Amino acid sequence: MGTVEEKKTRNTKHQQAVLDLLQRAKKTLTADEIKEQIEANINKTTVYRMLDRFIDAGKIHFVTGQNGKSYYALCKDCKEEPVQHIHNHLHFQCENCGNVECLPETLDVPRLKDYKIKETQLLLIGICKTCVTKNT
Ligand SMILES: [Zn+2]
Ligand SMILES: [Zn+2]
Ligand SMILES: [Zn+2]
Repeated sequence: MGTVEEKKTRNTKHQQAVLDLLQRAKKTLTADEIKEQIEANINKTTVYRMLDRFIDAGKIHFVTGQNGKSYYALCKDCKEEPVQHIHNHLHFQCENCGNVECLPETLDVPRLKDYKIKETQLLLIGICKTCVTKNT
């Protein structure tokens, strides 16, 4: 058992590793993929806890895929509004390879009077450009 300080440093290192991983990824990643690809021995609960914290901090966002899994990505061009951080870009899930990507295309998310929006889940489903090219 390390000291509290050592534990803190380790957590910070793991958090940075997760952010770096998402930064390098060309597509969104699931918690399982993050756990597999990160070069550290951390359990899934810790991965989820970190991801939740990043979402709260406005660093990352997620979209739920067709299979009910969450796919995480770094926030890049999120619309910063005075009261909320809005995800108005589209996501695409490929039925062939299963990859979920963030698209640069955006939709205007309407502001709803008297409602508080916490998440936007904009998902298109079809065949991605890599798989379309492969099959022609
Ligand atoms: Zn965001
Ligand atoms: Zn595909
Ligand atoms: Zn996205």
